[in-house]
Amino acid sequence: PLVMGIESSCDETGVGIVRGTELLAHALSSSMEQHVRFGGVVPEVASRAHLEAMVPTLEQAYAESGIRVQDVDAIAVTSGPGLTGALLVGVAAAKALALAHDKPLYGVNHLAAHVAVDQLEHGRFDQRVAALLVSGGHTELLLVDDIVTDITMLGQTIDDAAGEAFDKVARLLDLPYPGGPHIDRVARDGDPTAIAFPRGLTTGRDLDKHRYDFSFSGLKSAVARHVQHEQRMGRSISTADVAASFQDAVCDVLTKKTIAACVEHDVDTLIIGGGVAANGRLRHYAEERAAKAGIKVRIPRMGLCTDNGAMVAALGAEVVRRGVAPSALDLPVDSSMPVTHVVAA
Ligand code: ATP
Ligand code: MG
Ligand code: FE
Repeated sequence: PLVMGIESSCDETGVGIVRGTELLAHALSSSMEQHVRFGGVVPEVASRAHLEAMVPTLEQAYAESGIRVQDVDAIAVTSGPGLTGALLVGVAAAKALALAHDKPLYGVNHLAAHVAVDQLEHGRFDQRVAALLVSGGHTELLLVDDIVTDITMLGQTIDDAAGEAFDKVARLLDLPYPGGPHIDRVARDGDPTAIAFPRGLTTGRDLDKHRYDFSFSGLKSAVARHVQHEQRMGRSISTADVAASFQDAVCDVLTKKTIAACVEHDVDTLIIGGGVAANGRLRHYAEERAAKAGIKVRIPRMGLCTDNGAMVAALGAEVVRRGVAPSALDLPVDSSMPVTHVVAA
């Protein structure tokens, strides 16, 4: 099926068009620069930016693909989870287009879309896969038996998201926002074993209770304490060592738990998505540990890992292919839409 997808859950306005697993348009506008001076995404600013970017981004997708909304079989839109005001802009646009052109409308889950997008890159997955989603807003470990009907949340962060931890630690180290890429770069000259930072929820009762959950706020506090302590002692800190040691702690835990989950659930394919999938250390550990366990790692190209409309279209195409009933035209947004809920009623 030929499907258009609209994404507006956070700071990216995205419109994608796919035919099955073939990518035809991938138009994107980001309000990231407008959030830089606040050190994080400001919901109200993001909503306004979506409003301004929506029509130009739609036009860009039409121009890229030579396809107009009149031509598509269905319109898919992220209806959750995400920022309510931001989601509302995409959903309102999708409803207007669906109504005006008499197209079926599908409100779909953003997390499932992060997984589905890999089909555009590496082809359909028919077997059970695991997915690690790591971005500024989420950190989830999913077991995907079927991308439309059967996704289980194995674990998630109990405090900060992985990307959020990178951003907060970057701030402590006087690195610009968003901090992930800067920590990644600076860490290349550092020693990942220089400082033994805590690995949250990896031992004793914490591990028993939170087998596949993550916690990064204790790690962030430990980095803050380390920096303050060194300053009090009148020592200059090695930004490279702190960055490398912090990054190692995050990526060690993420990959250790993920691979353990794959082994326990007899999964031989792991998909990694979200902006943190760009991280060099994460990729290194994932490849190394997955190879040892006989697991294949699939990471879509970065432009498809971060938020975009193509991922929504990819999931929409899968939903249409299965003959799922469309969502109602009064479809609400759901800021905390659970991953067990792939298509809104
Ligand atoms: P959402 O959570 O809704 O997917 P988002 O905008 O918060 O949206 P992304 O755009 O997917 O998330 O990713 C941005 C995050 O990824 C930021 O926190 C950023 O610091 C982090 N990031 C980007 N590149 C790297 C990297 N090389 N290493 C670590 N983190 C990175
Ligand atoms: Mg983003
Ligand atoms: Fe996302």
